[in-house]
Amino acid sequence: MSHLLRPTPQPGILDIAPYLPGKSGKPGSNAVKLSANESPLGASPKALAAMVEAAGRLEIYPEGSSRVLREALADVHGLDPDSIVCGNGSDDLLHLLAQTYLGEGDEAVMNRYGFSVYPIITRAAGASIVMVEETDYRADVDALLAAVTERTKVIWLANPNNPTGTYLNAAEVARLHAGLRPDILLVIDSAYAEYVTAADYSVGLELVNAHENVVMVRTFSKMGLAAARIGWMVGPAHVVDAINRIRGPFNVNLPAQMAGAAAVRDIEFTQRLREHNAHWRAWLTAELSGNAMRVVPSQANFVMVLFDGAETAARAFQTLADAGYIVREIGASYGIPHGLRISIGSEEAMRAVADILKSMDATR
Ligand SMILES: *Cc1c(COP(=O)(O)O)cnc(C)c1O
Repeated sequence: MSHLLRPTPQPGILDIAPYLPGKSGKPGSNAVKLSANESPLGASPKALAAMVEAAGRLEIYPEGSSRVLREALADVHGLDPDSIVCGNGSDDLLHLLAQTYLGEGDEAVMNRYGFSVYPIITRAAGASIVMVEETDYRADVDALLAAVTERTKVIWLANPNNPTGTYLNAAEVARLHAGLRPDILLVIDSAYAEYVTAADYSVGLELVNAHENVVMVRTFSKMGLAAARIGWMVGPAHVVDAINRIRGPFNVNLPAQMAGAAAVRDIEFTQRLREHNAHWRAWLTAELSGNAMRVVPSQANFVMVLFDGAETAARAFQTLADAGYIVREIGASYGIPHGLRISIGSEEAMRAVADILKSMDATR
């Protein structure tokens, strides 16, 4: 009967700080959410239609391997459908990769300002996370390689990275891979691949195809389907086999599978989103640069803006919020208290955000 006798989480679980999502406006407010890198153009109308149609079959279990979705991805990206595993968001796949390849005594390596989910899934698997310093908010290949020990099992690399927006070019990622032992898994998380405009970037498929220790993870969340929770990964057969053994047997729901398949094939919508993003990302970067803030050059659908201190960043956050624009604070979750991450939104939102930040700057 002792209150001390109760189920106990595995060691380390209660040391994990929960993921802090981007804030939304107060319920009922019509605040514009620029805190979670969502699509400002909604979802692909074809994806929406496919989802509505699938909603007529809710009593039937979905096909468990997401075959229709894998085939659509394979067609559009020139892949073998058997090299793809789909997930309930890419978060599902990242968790499965951690659970499969990390355990007690192992280490996973990531860059200091890498995606905040990586430490959570690494520790949840019982392993330790090794955080490696960056050079001016960019992953540093030499530093990452220098952090590898005999305990290292996984390298987590978001490319482009969230929340910084910076990227490593294809040659740098290849150099990172070339410096790793073949028993270390390099996870290339290309969540923002669709938004990259840099000519020297690669999503990482050539590395996946040529080696036994590289996987690429992708998501539909940043392309208009965040609520549907669809992610996918491509890897060598032995990794795909291992992940398929432990993933949920019906881990992607039917409406999501159908919406995803339609969205991949809706090249025109993808292109519209890319063009909108490239235009307003460049515009916002140019507008804000040259004031008392610095915009870190981004290849994603957000920019990280650095202010002269944490207080200014907090003031900017509040001024924007008071005007109805919710952006992402990156102090507590990422250790960048003088920065804010701002998603690329509608033209109206971008113009308003630029005006507000510039006028704040002028009145200091
Ligand atoms: C948003 C994001 C994801 C995606 O997550 P989902 O679970 O697919 O919504 C994965 N990695 C990075 C780096 C991200 O920013």
